[in-house]
Order: sequence, then structure tokens, then C-alpha cells
Amino acid sequence: MPGLAVVGTQWGDEGKGKFVDILAPRFHTVVRFGGGHNAGHTVVTGGREFILHLLPSAVLHPGVRSVVGNGCVVDPLAFFEEVEMLEAAGRDPSPDLLLSDRAQIILPVHRAIEAREEERLGKHRIGTTRRGIGPAYADKAARRGLRLGDLRHPDYRDERLAHLVAGHGELLGWSESRIAEEIAGTRELLDRFASRVLPLIADTSLVIHETLEAGHGVLFEGAQATLLDLDHGTYPFVTSSTAVAAGAAVGAGVGPGAVGRVLGVSKAYMTRVGEGPFPTEMDPEQNRTIQEKGNEFGATTRRPRRCGWFDSVVLRYARRVNGLDELAITKLDVLDGLDEVRIGVRYLLDGDAVEEFPGEFGALARCEVEYRSMPGWDRPTAGATRLEDLPPEARHYLDTLEELSGVPVTLVSTGPDREAFVRRRETGVFGD
Ligand code: GDP
Repeated sequence: MPGLAVVGTQWGDEGKGKFVDILAPRFHTVVRFGGGHNAGHTVVTGGREFILHLLPSAVLHPGVRSVVGNGCVVDPLAFFEEVEMLEAAGRDPSPDLLLSDRAQIILPVHRAIEAREEERLGKHRIGTTRRGIGPAYADKAARRGLRLGDLRHPDYRDERLAHLVAGHGELLGWSESRIAEEIAGTRELLDRFASRVLPLIADTSLVIHETLEAGHGVLFEGAQATLLDLDHGTYPFVTSSTAVAAGAAVGAGVGPGAVGRVLGVSKAYMTRVGEGPFPTEMDPEQNRTIQEKGNEFGATTRRPRRCGWFDSVVLRYARRVNGLDELAITKLDVLDGLDEVRIGVRYLLDGDAVEEFPGEFGALARCEVEYRSMPGWDRPTAGATRLEDLPPEARHYLDTLEELSGVPVTLVSTGPDREAFVRRRETGVFGD
């Protein structure tokens, strides 16, 4: 199988990490194509839980090459932390890890800018993770950023660094001595980072191109998700990078055709972290039930996630903007034991039916939802691996999701473990 992109179809945290982890051993290379250490992919393996923020989930598989693509932003401190966490667990990722020479570096000043901006926005804040990711992407677009390849040229790096920190420092109201201190501290950090990361920096677009040319499979691992995409998400409550499938081409440096199949990942319900409209949001009691059953607390921030019923308007939209070929539904087991389950079928805006996901913040905030209600199921789906082990009501629920969205639901996850999933239909993702 040449290429496969795995993308989130909701507001993130869909359980992409689990499927990337299952699929990784079948691929030669796994590439993260966007975002920074604001992603939080949780992978449970051998009874241990690993939370990966920056590195591709494939780092848990020796022999599978992991690439941090040019579309990513890399924080040196987050890199050290993640590598040390893996080393402490007996897994040195270095032999299989490459980072793009074109990926941007997140600097400490980026975190300072973000914190200041969120404070300034007050109740209008985005609800970001305050890790400097947005400001690093802003500097990329403003053509001021530092890239990993710049670490190879200390003089050039230092000149750009001084310019960048001086500009931001002025806006932050820092004194000259504070700015000088920031530059010196960052330089020292970048020296330390360079001594560790330089051997891993490469022209990864070329590496991926050669891998595909040789007939090997490449998995493009999405971070965040469709509704957090900078263009197609619920702007301005979005991330600063391209999270939809097309981002795989830009963020890894390949042509669109090389991306190949697109697997969407959706929870069996919806969640959303942070601010912004959420049409199918559950009432507070149902919210608490699903939060607790589904452990809906952010892997990166531990913030509780807002929970809602499955929204087929969102999935139809995700199908279109990603070109989904198939869908994996995760966390079906979290709905076990509910009397009733609901699926959002369409929106109503000022009494008019709305079939397509609105692009305007104001419109989405005013949308009401028309639901299809179905009986829940008593018999647990947790841990099921065969379709016939799912109760008929759960199968009916999946049939309805598929019918409403028009995307074949090929895989169904029934628990956090690697083994806990059902192959519901023939799928193209395993390459068999
Ligand atoms: P990602 O960023 O899309 O990979 O998602 P996260 O890792 O933030 O969130 C997924 C969480 O759900 C992790 O804690 C997974 O271990 C867990 N998980 C994944 N699939 C299932 C499932 O089918 N059932 C349950 N109960 N948990 C799951």
C-alpha cells in the first residue's frame, strides 16, 4: 500500500493514536504532517500508557521510521521531554527518527506571546494550550521563523534569533536587558538542542519520496482534526495548521496523489475542548456521565472535554473536505448501558433546515439540532472483536451513522487496548 492518511473528523481526541499504532507495523514510514506538541495521542501497549505529543505514534515500533514533517513546529523542550520519557521506558527513538530541515522551531518567546494574547482576549480567548504553537506558525507565515535546518548555521541562526526576539520583546514591553537575557537563554537552549537533534535532521520530503518510489508504504498521521483545521475548522477556535487530509501533502512534501487513501477517525459521540459553539452538546448530567465513562480529560492539558451526541452534519462535512474513503468509529463502548442514543441529523437555523455545516461562527452558534433517537444497548460492547458480538442495537447505531454520513464504517474500536476493535467491513487500510 503506498500512502494512507489518518485524520480526525471531529474536534480532535478521536483516538487516531490507537489506529496509527495498530497500522504502523504495516508501514515503512509514519509521518506527522502538522501541529506541534499540542497533540496528545494516547497509546496503550503492553499494559503501559504512552502519551505522545510531538513524535509520531510509530516511535513505539522499532524498525518503523518516524518522521516529523516540514508542516510541524518543534519545541526543543518538548522534544527532550518526549525522548527522555521513551528512553526511560527502554525505547531510544533515535535510530528510526528523522525531523524535517524545514520544520519550524518553537521558541520560549512564542509561549510568552501566546500567554499574553490569551490574557488580553479575556472572555474571547481561543482556549489554546499556551505552548507557543500559534505564534510559531504566525512567525512562519510572517517569514521570521527559525527552521530546524538553521541549527546547522549558528551565525545565521543567531542573527535571525536576535531580530525575532527583539521584535517580540518590544511588543511585550520588555526592557533591553530582558531582551538580551531572552536571546542568551534561547541561544543556549538551541545549542543544547542542536547537539542532540542535528544528526536526525534531513530533507524528509526527499526521504519520503524515495520510500514511496521504492514501493514502500507511508502513513501520514494527522494531528488535531477537521473542525480544528485553520481553514475548514470552526474559526477562530481552531489550531494554526492544516489538519485535513490535504495537509499531508503540504506538510510532508509530497504530491496530493501520493497521499493515497484517507481513513477518517470519529468517536461514537462528539467532544470538544475549549471554547466555541457545539450544536449537539449534551445536558450537564449526560455530559458528566460520558466524561467519566470515556475519560474525557485532555491528554495534554487534563482539561475536561465537553461531550455531545454524534453529529452526522459534521461527518458529512468531514467526508467532503478530507475526501474520506472510510471511517473508524472509536469508543463505542463508552455508550454501553445508555437507555437512549441520539444522532444529530440536520441543523435548524431560524426554523430553516440546514444540511451542510455552516462556515460562519454566528450561524453555527444559533443552530439547533434535529436528532434521530434510538434505543441504547445493555449488553456491553467493551472489548468486542467480532461484529456478531455487538448487540443488535449497537449494530443498528453504526448502520445509521453510515447511512447518514455516506462513509463506509470499516473499523469499530471497543476499548483502549490495541486488540479491542472490530473489522465491520472490508477495509483498504491493512493492505491485505
Ligand atoms: P487522539 O489524539 O485522536 O489519538 O486521541 P486521544 O489519544 O487524545 O484520545 C483517545 C483516548 O481514548 C485515549 O485515552 C485512548 O486510549 C482512548 N481510546 C481509544 N479508543 C478507545 C475505545 O474504543 N474505547 C475507549 N474506552 N477508549 C478508547
